[in-house]
Amino acid sequence: MRVVGLELLGDKRRGVGIYWGDGRLLDLSRALRIFMIAKGREDPGYIESPQDAISRGLLDIGFLSDLLSFVETHRLYEDLLAPDSKLLAPIPHPSKVIALGRNYASHAKEMGHEVPKEPIIFQKASSSIVGPEEPVIYHRGLTRIDHEVELAVVIGKVCKHVTEDEALSYVAGYTVLNDVTARDIQASDIESKLPWFRSKSFDTFCPIGPCITLPDEIPDPQSLDLSMMVNGEVRQKANTSEMIFPVSFLISYISSIMTLYPGDIIATGTPDGIGPVFPGDIMEAYVERIGVLRNPVLEEDRLCTGPG
Ligand code: MG
Repeated sequence: MRVVGLELLGDKRRGVGIYWGDGRLLDLSRALRIFMIAKGREDPGYIESPQDAISRGLLDIGFLSDLLSFVETHRLYEDLLAPDSKLLAPIPHPSKVIALGRNYASHAKEMGHEVPKEPIIFQKASSSIVGPEEPVIYHRGLTRIDHEVELAVVIGKVCKHVTEDEALSYVAGYTVLNDVTARDIQASDIESKLPWFRSKSFDTFCPIGPCITLPDEIPDPQSLDLSMMVNGEVRQKANTSEMIFPVSFLISYISSIMTLYPGDIIATGTPDGIGPVFPGDIMEAYVERIGVLRNPVLEEDRLCTGPG
């Protein structure tokens, strides 16, 4: 199952969509209200995002299967289609985005580093998140920003000190994340022994989407092709089997340091082939079974030009 964050343009509200078998989108927020009321349960109101659904424990595969069977049995499908809508970031405001440095040997090598013996984790500001098709801003004063395609894990339940064996049961699903980086700032900060936080956290530097694929479609996160195309040219191409520290280890490791909350995101690192992008470029980050996350690069001044 694949779920998306939606802006329903006709209804002027935000919601959650789920892909039906024929590829069309069902308005899950409406379907949920009808289902809950029919079952004699409390009206949940409109859920506003997949993040909202995760926090309320509603992105459970068993529960969603029951809901979709209900839609099918009662022939509600046509009425619940979400035709006039735009995709939004599925997790708009996580409590944190934890990212991995050098989790593919090929990328560690291209940056001139040894393969790490322990995960290197850093944070991206949650406020840097944008959704599919939203522009990544080439901020004034920067001289180099890079693309980094990554598989991102979305946490489904509060998680602290979990073992590797149980780690994947805490995953709500997976999405694509482009860990956009101000490489010039990062290089000077590394030189000065400063953290990576600011180079990773400019507004718009964390595109995510296009959907969250639930674990029923990704039972093993270590076997997914991923790639990055810029203006139609392949720049990065790898498979998640090449990660140094796999997803289950990362969840266990990070949860031994900090509590992970529903909706928290772990960006699992990028393979080799990173490189600069410029205003006017189109980035297309792809992960198998999730899809293509497409974002244009826009010069900051373009946003600031007012009348006259
Ligand atoms: Mg990265």
